[in-house]
Formats: sequence, C-alpha cells, structure tokens
Amino acid sequence: MKKILVTGGAGFIGSHLCEKLLQTGNEVVCLDNYFTGSKTNIVHLLDNPYFELVRHDVTMPYFVEVDEIYNLACPASPIHYQYNSIKTIKTSVMGAINMLGLAKRIKAKVLQASTSEVYGDPIIHPQTEEYWGNVNPIGPRSCYDEGKRCAESLFVNYNFQNNVRIKIIRIFNTYGPRMHPNDGRVVSNFIVQALKGEDITIYGDGSQTRSFQYVDDLIEGMMRMMNTPDSFTGPVNIGNPNEFTILSLAEKVLEMTNSKSKIIHLPLPADDPIQRQPDISIAKKELDGWEPVIQLEEGLAKTINYFKILLKK
Ligand code: NAD
Ligand code: UDP
Repeated sequence: MKKILVTGGAGFIGSHLCEKLLQTGNEVVCLDNYFTGSKTNIVHLLDNPYFELVRHDVTMPYFVEVDEIYNLACPASPIHYQYNSIKTIKTSVMGAINMLGLAKRIKAKVLQASTSEVYGDPIIHPQTEEYWGNVNPIGPRSCYDEGKRCAESLFVNYNFQNNVRIKIIRIFNTYGPRMHPNDGRVVSNFIVQALKGEDITIYGDGSQTRSFQYVDDLIEGMMRMMNTPDSFTGPVNIGNPNEFTILSLAEKVLEMTNSKSKIIHLPLPADDPIQRQPDISIAKKELDGWEPVIQLEEGLAKTINYFKILLKK
C-alpha cells in the first residue's frame, strides 16, 4: 500500500483523483485550504480509514511521510485565479517549492498539475510539448500562466540539481461532475445556464476553440504518468484532441438539455486564447497507449446529470 499526498484534493479534479487512488488500494492524505474546493466533494470518502483530510495552505511548508505527491493545489478557473492574483502566483510558486522541498526530504516522487495555459495564445497548432508558448507576462491571465511556468521551472531544476523524482503533466480543458456550478468555466457555465433557462453567455463570436477532456480520462493519464520510469519526467500533454468551437459547444449543450435558453454574446476577455488542441503523441507513446476514451457527448451527458441533481437540492 502506497501513501500518497494530494494537494488540492477537495477540488474538482483532486476529488476524483483521491477516489481513484483509494479504489486502487492506496492510502491518501488530502490537503486543501477550501478556496475553490469543498468538503462536499470528498465527504463520501471520510468513512474510509485510509483517507485523511488536512486543512492546510500549500504556501506554507507541510510535513508528512508519503511515497508520492500529486500537486494540484491552485484555483483553475479564470474568475477564481484572478480574484486574488498575487495569491495565485504564491500558490503556484511557493506551493511548488514547498512540495518539492518535501519530496526532496522524504525522497518521494512528485507530480505537477501544469496546464495548457503554459502555451498561452498558441501560434503552433496543435500544441506539442516542445512549443515554448506565447504568454503575455503582464496580462490578466499571467498570474496563472506564469505561476505555472515558474512551477515547471522549479520542478525541472529540483530534478537537475537535487535528483528529485519529478513528473510534469500539462492538462488541457477538463470537465465533469464536481465542477463548481459558479466556477465560471465554459462547460459548467453553459450547462447550469441551460438547465436554469438563463441566457447562454458566449464570450466573443464563439469561434475560439477548446478541446474538452472528461475527468476520468485525465485521472487515468495522471496515474499512468506517476508510474512511468524515473527517467521520464515529461512534460506531457494530457487532453482530448477533439477540438470544438465555443459556439458549437453551446449548441450541443442546448440540444442535450432540451433547453429554451437563448445564446447571447458578451465581450471576449483580454488574452483569451483563440485556439487550443493538444498533440498527445508523447502521452500515447510513454503512457502505455493512453488516449481519451470518453468523447464529448458521453461526458456531457454525465455532467448534465450531475448538475441536474445538484440544482434540485
Ligand atoms: P479546482 O479549483 O476545483 O481545484 C483546486 C483545489 O486547490 C481546490 O480544492 C482549492 O481549494 C485548492 N487550493 C487552491 N489554493 C490552495 C492553496 N493555497 N493551498 C491549498 N489548497 C489550495 O480546480 P481543478 O480544475 O480541480 O484543478 C486542479 C489542478 O489542475 C489545478 O492545479 C489546475 O491548475 C490544474 N488544471 C486544471 C485544468 C482543468 O481544466 N480543470 C486544466 C489545466 C490544469
Ligand atoms: N467562455 C464563454 N462563456 C462562458 C465561459 C467561457 O464563451 O460563460 C469561453 C472563454 O472565453 C474561453 C472558453 O470559453 O474562450 C473556455 O473558457 P474557460 O474559462 O472554460 O477555460 P480557458 O479559457 O481557461 O481555457
């Protein structure tokens, strides 16, 4: 039985990861400060004697004896990461330093949940891991993008300088049950708006694209990455290469919810990437043939069901 620390474990992705790690016979310590996460996401795990919950902020050092660390703590939705942008930078940078320092001390393996945002508004399409990105260092998204880029740099340097065993994954837009209904990301926004009969808010003309990955596919990729040989550190893109315009996503959600909501257009936020699609060749090769198996319609159906139940409560 491995002991595993998951920072940000009470969040959307973290809660699915804790659940899967327990199901596969591990002991899990879930650390969270509940900024965007919630106890409701992990309350069903509290009876499990192999699950421990710790209220803690990753910007402060934390000590525990574990074999592996998944570092997910960081708000991920633009609304939340821009709410206190300095804190977002601290969470990414100081959180990485604290988790890498811990990994060094206890000789644990540590995985960083990085992001496709390190590619910024990409000029190369689809994005490969060797692309350095096109990030505005002083724009409204920079607290998140540059925080995550600095965290990647810390990870590779702790690996070069101190031989810490690291893994970096770059997660592309992921959705599914337990997204916060008000978290502002496009899939949850559109589903909640459609179910409530409110206007569907498309920012800009809706021609910008994203490639949406269902959370279960991400968890599978993440856990396979942790189990690769120490010589493979990444970064590796984990996402679903099927690319959709935001307008087509809105139309699909309207159709699947049978909603009478109207589509309205609001201004496009500054520095909003125009297109995004992962090249997952490295993931397929290094993660034992991993590729997403849940496509948009199936994943949306599961997510719509989740929000239907949540909104009735
Ligand atoms: P989320 O906001 O649901 O989860 C983040 C969790 O981290 C929350 O539980 C929050 O309370 C916790 N947290 C935030 N700041 C913290 C701090 N200082 N100390 C301790 N805990 C803190 O978001 P998510 O979608 O589950 O994202 C999880 C991770 O995956 C993040 O690092 C995010 O950057 C990364 N990621 C997510 C996506 C996506 O599409 N969902 C894409 C790329 C990268
Ligand atoms: N978006 C939108 N309406 C919304 C929320 C988001 O049109 O209510 C757009 C947003 O401008 C972006 C895309 O959907 O182009 C994805 O936004 P999200 O915040 O989910 O993720 P990110 O921009 O970080 O990829």
